[in-house]
Formats: sequence, C-alpha cells, structure tokens
Amino acid sequence: MKQITNFLPIAGLTAALALGAVTAHATDEKPNIVASLAPIELLVRAVAGDQVTVSTLVPAGASPHTYQLRPSERRQLAAADRIFWVGPGMENFLERLLTGPDFRDRSVALAPGADAPGDDDHGYHHEDDHDSHAEAEHGPEHDSADAHAHGHDHGDGGDPHIWLDPALGLDMAGKIAHSIEQLEGIDAKEIDENLATFEASLKDREASIRQQLQPAKDLDLFTYHGAFRRFAEHYGLTIAGVLTLSPERSPGARHLAEVQERLQQADQPCLLTEPQFNRQWWESLMTDADIPVSTWDPLAGDIEPTATGYLEFQQSLADAVLRCLPENAE
Ligand SMILES: [Zn+2]
Ligand SMILES: [Zn+2]
Repeated sequence: MKQITNFLPIAGLTAALALGAVTAHATDEKPNIVASLAPIELLVRAVAGDQVTVSTLVPAGASPHTYQLRPSERRQLAAADRIFWVGPGMENFLERLLTGPDFRDRSVALAPGADAPGDDDHGYHHEDDHDSHAEAEHGPEHDSADAHAHGHDHGDGGDPHIWLDPALGLDMAGKIAHSIEQLEGIDAKEIDENLATFEASLKDREASIRQQLQPAKDLDLFTYHGAFRRFAEHYGLTIAGVLTLSPERSPGARHLAEVQERLQQADQPCLLTEPQFNRQWWESLMTDADIPVSTWDPLAGDIEPTATGYLEFQQSLADAVLRCLPENAE
C-alpha cells in the first residue's frame, strides 16, 4: 500500500479514491473508524480500545433524522477504513453515499437484518448461549428465545433507534468487533477479549438497571419522538404517548389534542424531552405544571467517549426515567 501511495500525484486523495482499494492511512497508523452516531462510537471504543482511531459524524445536539453531510465530513468518510452506521431508515443523509460504489465495501450497517459487506464468511459467535445475539444472527424470522425471555422481539422494522436496547447494543458490538478484526494490523484476540469483557459488564449493568427501574413500572412516559421505545420495551416500561411520529415535522393539531387527552388521563405522567428537539411543543401541552419533565439524550451527548461509555449511556437512560419519580423529580 505504502509504495503505491508514494507514486500518487499531488491530488493523492482523489487518485486514492479512484483506485478504490488503496486505504487512506499509512501502514504505521492505526485503522481509522468513522461512526455515524456517538453511541456507535462508544461501542467501537468498547471492543477496539486503542487499536483504532474513531470519530463521529453527527455532532451532539444535532438530529440524525434531518442532518446534512458537510464537505469536510465527506472527506472524513473518504479517509475511513471502516464506517459503521445503523442503516437505511435511520441516517437518511448517509443512505445514498454508503450504499453507493465509493463506500459500500467499507461500510457496515448495524441494524438487525441489514447486510454487512464482507461479513458473509462466518458470523461472530458468542461462546455462551446469549439469546439476543443468536436471534439477531439469524434474523427476525426466528421466534427468538430472547423475545420469550423478556416479552418483546428484537426484529427489524419499526423504531430504528436500535442502540437503546442493550441486547441490540451487544449485537452491534459483535458486528463491529468482527468487522474490525478483518482490518490490517489488528490484534483479533484482544478484540475478542474486549468483546467478552463488554458483554459481561453490560449484563451486570442490565441486571442492575432492571432492579433500579422496578419503582418506575407504573409511570406513563410521554416522549418527544418515537426514539425511546426500544429501551422502554426492553425494561417493561410504558410509553403512554409520543408527541411527534416523524421528528422532521411539527406534530399536527389533532395528534397534539390526542396526546394532551392521554396526558390528562394518565395516573403518573412524565414528559421525556430530548436536547435535539424543540421543547415548546411540550410547553403548549403542559396544562398541569406538576407533570415532571426529564431530559434524556439518544445521542449520548454528555457521555465521555471511553470503553465504558456505552454502559454509562444505558445508565443515563435509566436515570432519566428515575427522575420522573416524585421522590427524584428535578
Ligand atoms: Zn430519532
Ligand atoms: Zn430487548
């Protein structure tokens, strides 16, 4: 690779892109990973440690639903050895680019059932019988044991905010690990060990969160957009209303009236707001000033990008729900 790079003309980047197979980094550099969203970067850090460099496209506070790629970010993608994203239906701004000829060979869509190029030789397999992974491995057509274990299925379709569900987060981490292991200069054994450590700590955290959320079972959660469902379903929480079904648009008057009615009928309502979206819609619905409001961030804006960041992200979601309880209200 290095020799070829040396013969490139001054417009090296363009030429490298034209050659396609030439990786953009020199052999003594770490593989360069780009994540579409911060929670995906957290999963990369959990499994790859310091073997790679990783950056995220969508900045804190922006919405991936309406994001527009900037020219500098197009170059960031061009310099990547691997690009991880959720897939079509989530990051609309990447769909045409990452499924096109320039990027599809180094892009991996992490949604259940999404095709992962270069991932067809053998799937990543856990040594234990973690149901969620087995289910995701074989696709949504299986009636998974995981669905039996906690009463919901992890199939594709529906809410694309898959990283909120820890079982799907683990599945994403497995796909990321397997893909990174194929890059040059990677110590695959260490990646496997990191993944095993991540799985064990995630299971511990999940059990602890399940315990913590016991007193929150009777809450009627109202969310800004349909992003919280994966977490709520995983932990058996109730979403009583969603303000806007499509976050690109303002909610219609009729839908607002319906949500308001449900809000008034709810025994223990709580409004979950997100930093990405306008809070004024909630304020127009707030007939009762006593309704608790709690902010959560689907893009993990306040979480340090470290190997344990995804666990802290999961905890931040639980904490947002727990702030709805009268004894914890802000
Ligand atoms: Zn969203
Ligand atoms: Zn789940």
